[in-house]
Amino acid sequence: MRQRTLTIIKPDAMRNRVEGHILQRLLDEGFELKGLRMLHLAESQAEGFYAVHRERSFYPELVRFMTSGPVIVACLEREDAVAHLRKVMGPTDSTKAPQQTLRGQFGTNIQENAVHGSDSPENAANEIKFFFPGAKFD
Ligand code: ATP
Ligand code: MG
Repeated sequence: MRQRTLTIIKPDAMRNRVEGHILQRLLDEGFELKGLRMLHLAESQAEGFYAVHRERSFYPELVRFMTSGPVIVACLEREDAVAHLRKVMGPTDSTKAPQQTLRGQFGTNIQENAVHGSDSPENAANEIKFFFPGAKFD
């Protein structure tokens, strides 16, 4: 089933100037770009986006990292988009991610892992609304 998901190219990947490579890999994987924004997250946006993790010990550091520089946010569409993006990203910890995954190729560690991807169709819908409120994509 054709489906939408949300990705964020995180501040580490932007600092490393690999956002073009990441977008090209996603296009090569058959994702269609439906929406695209570059922004520097406010603290309140990063806190809200990762609110599910607010009780975790790494939360303050995660918010600091996600607000440490600009990010690129994209709404992507493809067959089985949510699961396929998670597969292309690789596991959370970049040091354990296979070399052919985005995190294996462009991530550094468990925090600086280059990309975000929605983890369920429900969360994808909410995350797309979070960054593209009211958008009517072609
Ligand atoms: P994302 O939600 O960004 O796609 P994920 O679903 O693979 O990543 P989550 O468990 O949702 O992983 O964690 C969200 C983000 O918090 C991670 O991508 C990473 O940047 C950071 N993070 C997760 N676990 C840790 C940890 N143990 N120490 C430091 N940072 C962490
Ligand atoms: Mg997650």
